[in-house]
Amino acid sequence: MADRRPLMPLDAVLERLVAGARAHAITATETVSTFDALGRVLAVPVSSALDVPPADNTSMDGYALHAADVASPGAVLAVAQRIPAGSVGQPLARGSAARIFTGAQIPAGADAVVMQEDCEALAGEGLGAVRVNAVPRAGQWIRRRGEDIRCDAEVLAQGSRLSAAALGLAASVGAATLTVVHRPRVALMSTGDELVMPGQPLPPGAIYNSNRYLLRGLLQAAGCEITDFGIVPDRREATIAALREAAIGHDLILTSGGVSTGEEDHIRPAVQAQGWIENWQVAIKPGKPLAFGGVRCDDGSVALFMGLPGNPVSCFVNFLVTVSPVLRAMQGAAALQPRGLRARADFDWPRADRRREFLRARFNDAGGLELYANQSSGVLSSAVWGDGLIDNPAGQTIARGDMVRFLPFLELLG
Ligand code: AMP
Ligand code: MG
Repeated sequence: MADRRPLMPLDAVLERLVAGARAHAITATETVSTFDALGRVLAVPVSSALDVPPADNTSMDGYALHAADVASPGAVLAVAQRIPAGSVGQPLARGSAARIFTGAQIPAGADAVVMQEDCEALAGEGLGAVRVNAVPRAGQWIRRRGEDIRCDAEVLAQGSRLSAAALGLAASVGAATLTVVHRPRVALMSTGDELVMPGQPLPPGAIYNSNRYLLRGLLQAAGCEITDFGIVPDRREATIAALREAAIGHDLILTSGGVSTGEEDHIRPAVQAQGWIENWQVAIKPGKPLAFGGVRCDDGSVALFMGLPGNPVSCFVNFLVTVSPVLRAMQGAAALQPRGLRARADFDWPRADRRREFLRARFNDAGGLELYANQSSGVLSSAVWGDGLIDNPAGQTIARGDMVRFLPFLELLG
């Protein structure tokens, strides 16, 4: 029977989800090696106890000198010292130069570096001399102490999700460990009596369980600790038993399938029996049915619950637009939503939908977006083919050349 409940706009749903996630925020933190902190959310900001770079240094191989000693091209200066990266030179006397290599500290007294391509090394006593064929400007090729980071500056804010670049930045201020929020502990289950695991023969009426792999991968990419409860049969008692077990020691229970209001959809009554649930018809396509709630443990603690629709693409899109912000909010992340980008549509989409659509698309060589031909919610090939989702507002058609909002998969997961 068709579900006649009113459609709920995605933004209203997200407000409810984020409020629920914040009310059940993960409070446990842990200190981990900076090596192992990729994708984690910072619980404590990182500040620098030093200037970066810690001293003026050269960004070129060449000669450090006093700019005023080279008034015209061809000046010859004695080479007084040699300073490789990692060693500290002596103060530089006027009228002399120091052979210097990228990253080495500028000796006291020098105020410029001339790159070696503009110099000629001349043989002679000791380190010889150098002919400088270009007139230097004071300060040239010098990276200044503190030009990247000032001592005491906050370099990474609490709530940052740590990218590889962020780990590099943390290391540049000497942080060997970082204090991060505990990973979300997620219990995963697939519902559906038609599901069979790959590796088993496929009887008539059955399909392979793709969501289990899809959601597991998405949860891994989102930095979760996963307990996989496998396939839960389409029976109320079995569903309740699985939920009760899953509520123990988990922050979130995530299910796929069984969230519509058909008589074979057991999720709603089962969650209701063990906690509370809101069941929405979200105004998005694909991915209309979505359930959100909480499952109570015997000790009174609560695991949040999210029930995704069974169609693989609905499941995928719903994860990206609803579960991902919930996982971030639970970890106290500052950024919950992708920023997205504007890109040109190289296709026509003449039929507007009353729901907000998330169309699987990818960039062509001309920098425009193309659509996967079959946008049906059962066609998982579209998600593999695509680079991301076009976020098309309800009621909107698209004509070739229009600028549209594009959400790259990398950003939705990153
Ligand atoms: P449901 O939300 O349970 O009504 O399922 C909607 C559609 O998604 C049905 O065609 C199911 O067979 C399919 N489906 C449900 N769960 C899975 C799964 N884990 N993997 C692949 N397809 C599924
Ligand atoms: Mg089902």
